[in-house]
Amino acid sequence: MQNPIPLTRDLVLIGGGHAHALVLRRFGMRPVPGLRITLVNPGPTAPYTGMLPGHVAGHYTREELEIDLVRLARFAGARLVLDRATGLDRDRREVHLAGRAPLRYDLLSLDIGITGDLDIPGFAEHGLPAKPLERFATAWEAFVAAPPPTPRIAVIGGGVAGCELALAMAHRLQAAGISDVAVTVLEARAEVLNELAPGARQRILAQMRDYGIEVETGVTVEAVEAGGLRLAGGRTMESDLTVGAAGAQPQGWLAETGLELRDGYVVVDAQLRSASDPRIFAAGDCAHLRHAPRPKAGVYAVRAAPVLAWNLRADLTGRQRRAFRPQRDFLRLISLGGKRALAQKWGTGPEGDWVWRWKDRIDRKFMDGFATLPRMAAPAPPKDAAIGAAAAAAGQPPCAGCGAKIGPGALQGALAGLAPPLRPDVRAAPGDDAAVLRVGGETQVITTDHLRGFTLDPWLLAQVAAHHALGDIWAMGAQPQAALASITLPHMAPAMQQATLAEIMTAAQEVFRAAGADIAGGHSTLGAELSIGFTVTGLAGARPIGLDGARAGDALVLSAPIGSGTLLAAEMALKARGTWIGALWEAMTRGQAQAAAILAPEARAMTDVTGFGLAGHLMNMMRASGTGARLELAAVPVFDGAEAMAAAGVRSTLYAENRAALGDAVLPDTPRAALLCDPQTGGGLLAAVPADAAQALVGELEAAGYRAARIGTVIETAGRLEIA
Ligand SMILES: Cc1cc2nc3c(=O)[nH]c(=O)nc-3n(C[C@H](O)[C@H](O)[C@H](O)COP(=O)(O)OP(=O)(O)OC[C@H]3O[C@@H](n4cnc5c(N)ncnc54)[C@H](O)[C@@H]3O)c2cc1C
Repeated sequence: MQNPIPLTRDLVLIGGGHAHALVLRRFGMRPVPGLRITLVNPGPTAPYTGMLPGHVAGHYTREELEIDLVRLARFAGARLVLDRATGLDRDRREVHLAGRAPLRYDLLSLDIGITGDLDIPGFAEHGLPAKPLERFATAWEAFVAAPPPTPRIAVIGGGVAGCELALAMAHRLQAAGISDVAVTVLEARAEVLNELAPGARQRILAQMRDYGIEVETGVTVEAVEAGGLRLAGGRTMESDLTVGAAGAQPQGWLAETGLELRDGYVVVDAQLRSASDPRIFAAGDCAHLRHAPRPKAGVYAVRAAPVLAWNLRADLTGRQRRAFRPQRDFLRLISLGGKRALAQKWGTGPEGDWVWRWKDRIDRKFMDGFATLPRMAAPAPPKDAAIGAAAAAAGQPPCAGCGAKIGPGALQGALAGLAPPLRPDVRAAPGDDAAVLRVGGETQVITTDHLRGFTLDPWLLAQVAAHHALGDIWAMGAQPQAALASITLPHMAPAMQQATLAEIMTAAQEVFRAAGADIAGGHSTLGAELSIGFTVTGLAGARPIGLDGARAGDALVLSAPIGSGTLLAAEMALKARGTWIGALWEAMTRGQAQAAAILAPEARAMTDVTGFGLAGHLMNMMRASGTGARLELAAVPVFDGAEAMAAAGVRSTLYAENRAALGDAVLPDTPRAALLCDPQTGGGLLAAVPADAAQALVGELEAAGYRAARIGTVIETAGRLEIA
């Protein structure tokens, strides 16, 4: 047997800016064996701001200008941590994060851009910075959807970005038929666009005049208030939307890192290494190139990427680093509101519709590099393999999470021969969510669950696995008591083992503590791949809620959407959108504690929806209760993107077995119906409740933040599943 290559180095990339996105692509195409890459970014996508004015003007959708970091990280074999770095402990080589335990690193790279916040009183409350995109684009779409009758917009900052945005906003509103639009650009200096040559400046100003955009120079904004601005000299100005585009501000937390900074930016040498810490690199807007200072522009982040990737690889593999020699000037392609642009380099350049098309081609080509990731060659099929092995290996890669469960048919077949409990204090009800034990005068429930890593992020997997295991306890109407962890880490160096285990235990403890339970011990081992499981006990009242209490006429209430298995399968195959997966991860780490507290007092039967899918778990409950069910397919909540992926033919590898276990039940041949057999990881609770209580329960669940619904009714015919 071959030794697996153990992980020996941690590379942490902070920020999914342009440079890091390109670095990830390069590492995906040529991985470094033994390297664990982690990307930390607050959201699942990063914007390509070159297309932002086009998006504001209505020429591009939001997806068209977003780099999908979830897909990119999967392609690169990197883990993506959706969080924000808040500090560095350089002695311990740890990155501090806003929402979770610190991450260790051997090598670190920063590409976090700038902040769009302006240091003007009231701007944080009443202004809108051009960055981050998420906030800006959402607020702009809301403004466009319901504009005031005569919209007044103030743009603070008359550089290229401010003027491009002003043109784009005026264009969008005028194209929507609103002619009475007042857009004003406010610039503190004597001139706007002073980074451009006079000819280009005059042409852009002429275009702004055509759109009726006012330009005020030499004005200082003293405060931003609700409905307007206060300017120096006691003047006021009305504004329905105040946009900040007044130059770069460094991220404040860099000042606490002890790194050498210049004006708040990380000073790097020609090899993009921090001037004060050889383990830290920086690129893009957050870096100050000591050997060749340049203005803040995406083009330098893009150009730095190959050198950054090379030098990170060099330090990780013991090779020679290279120097970054940025160009002195660069081709600016400035959009002019409509589908028209101006080109400028070395002080001159053409203007026209064709320049916009040229810019459009360049921008789309850049984004295509992330949308169409090259297919990496699959390992050759095994020769001389046993019959069927090569074909099985060439099929869809096995799913993870609950999609990796042994199918219901095989499981029931294997368990059928097991003798019933001998001991009177072990009261296992076959197929129930947890076993029931009598201990002294108490009723205790006990369950175990284990997840194969659907993510490379141990913290995320630990939280989902903990919630997942707790689901069985909640479903029995019990209170969690104690948990034992069972952890398999991929082979890795001892320092990485310690850090990874610490991450897992901190993540799990957070979940169990919040549920009122303690982690009492566990077992860990090194193995082929990451998997995390928990055995959990809970204390139930005199009669735990089982599967067998549903009565004809009861309403069926579900506390969470379905479709996670399909989305996770799509994510593994690079087909899912990052925004869907970001929302899914968030839902899976939400847990069902509150849902259980709301449902348990009314539930006659309850289960958590996991590996066998909604239909499978529903029918287990119906069989145990001697009843059947009518499901309202349209009422079943599904995760964003799940139906689209099901329509595209994506299925979890457990789907076929889940479908087969339903026997001759007739399901419509639709993508939504396919999701009924989709294995759920960390799924919701399904409860049979008195019909007259259902509406109030769903209301309470929704008020607690769950996407819950009444999805059907219990019927008399035992074992029958009807889909309406
Ligand atoms: C309207 C507008 C138009 C522009 N047009 C152009 C143009 O046409 N050409 C050009 O060259 N430049 C343009 N720019 C400038 C360009 O946007 C920036 O220079 C470029 O985005 C810098 O790239 P970057 O890789 O440094 O960082 P960014 O692209 O800013 O990316 C930084 C990433 O880091 C993440 N991040 C931030 N803080 C943290 C944290 N604490 N922890 C983890 N992650 C974090 C952010 O969420 C983001 O994903 C424009 C700017 C604006 C505002």
